[in-house]
Amino acid sequence: MTDGPTLGFDTLQIHAGAAPDPATGARQTPIYQTTAYVFRDADHAAALFNLAEVGNIYSRLTNPTVSALAERITHLEGGAGGVCCSSGHAAQIMALFPLMQPGCNVVASTRLYGGTVTQLSQTIKRFGWSAKFVDFDDEAAVAAAIDDNTRAVFCESVANPGGYITDIPAIAAISDAAGVPLIVDNTSATPYLCNPIALGATLVVHSTTKYLTGNGTVTGGCVVDSGKFDWLQNDKFPSFSQPEPAYHGLVFGEALGPMAFTFHSIAIGLRDLGMTMNPQGAHYTLMGIETLSLRMQKHVENARIVAEWLENDDRVDYVTYAGLKSSPYYERIEKVCPKGAGALFTFAVKGGYDACIKLVDSLDIFSHVANLGDTRSLIIHSASTTHRQLTEDQQIAAGAGPNVVRLSIGIEDPKDLIADLDQALSKATS
Ligand code: PLP
Repeated sequence: MTDGPTLGFDTLQIHAGAAPDPATGARQTPIYQTTAYVFRDADHAAALFNLAEVGNIYSRLTNPTVSALAERITHLEGGAGGVCCSSGHAAQIMALFPLMQPGCNVVASTRLYGGTVTQLSQTIKRFGWSAKFVDFDDEAAVAAAIDDNTRAVFCESVANPGGYITDIPAIAAISDAAGVPLIVDNTSATPYLCNPIALGATLVVHSTTKYLTGNGTVTGGCVVDSGKFDWLQNDKFPSFSQPEPAYHGLVFGEALGPMAFTFHSIAIGLRDLGMTMNPQGAHYTLMGIETLSLRMQKHVENARIVAEWLENDDRVDYVTYAGLKSSPYYERIEKVCPKGAGALFTFAVKGGYDACIKLVDSLDIFSHVANLGDTRSLIIHSASTTHRQLTEDQQIAAGAGPNVVRLSIGIEDPKDLIADLDQALSKATS
């Protein structure tokens, strides 16, 4: 495919990264179900191991089916290179891994998926890393939190669970001024609704488990690098600016320029951490991603209809959907995600915790699951599930207090979704 900058999103989501299979002519990207690849000869093997030639060595590092997906997501995000991983959480570790050292920290938004709050507040401590959580609507507080040991700033474009929108250009200006990369989790928005790199992000991470696959079949993740960050501007990023002892002294930043992050992630990140996506998983995501724009349009349209109905219902205290004119985040849509505010939001049920539990148990069409971004509409009571490990203060800061449920609005007929919510709300609040 000639994948020049003129091709539109709808074309790229189908063609980017893939061509008819050169060996068989197969039009669909084959599932290359192989662990290893035969070297042409010993010189070829040495060139591959020296990164002097690009090619496949072993599927823990690269696999043609997985590479097709990585290239497609990279095109959709407008990045220089990308690497797929086994899950969204794996992608987050892969993004941080070359940036961090023991004693370093990441400045992170308080409004994040609960699993990410736990990963950053607890689990990364075992690597000697830490996180400082800040309200990203308070730009002065973000700037103040960045210190000499900060190696990344982390936020979600449209934050799970509340659907709140982060002012990415404002946060990018702060991280740029500090010489620190900005990592944006674009899972809930997808590159169809939001382009963090165009707004100033350095790295974009995805849980491809969600909208990119779109049908709830496989877990996966991806890191896309903008290729724009100058890793050599200071001495904070020795993985790129110093001889890399884990790769016979190669200085990745000098040898690979805008592809330094991507090659480091494959040659060292995937090689040594092994959080690799498998080709079957990549296949399911390649199938799903072909219809991303069509699904996202319908997700957004349905979310607006359902959110407006809920906002006008007496049994509901408030609705957090940023696409509602009443939302404090409404003004940010045009700047951050001009095609819509996504399809993920929460609402507060009159009757609090008990009513929320009764509601999730009373729905027929909505599935009560710990997932989002499926064609099916989904619901979860975050405080007792995905955000359960958090303190109540953290839950409230994340927008996942005990009185709210999170909806991931699917692409069904919206009148059926409203009827389902209507009957369940009656049971929950009677
Ligand atoms: N980022 C967001 C916004 C998520 O909602 C999730 C999971 O729900 C993740 C990351 C983690 O993704 P995965 O479950 O694929 O590891």
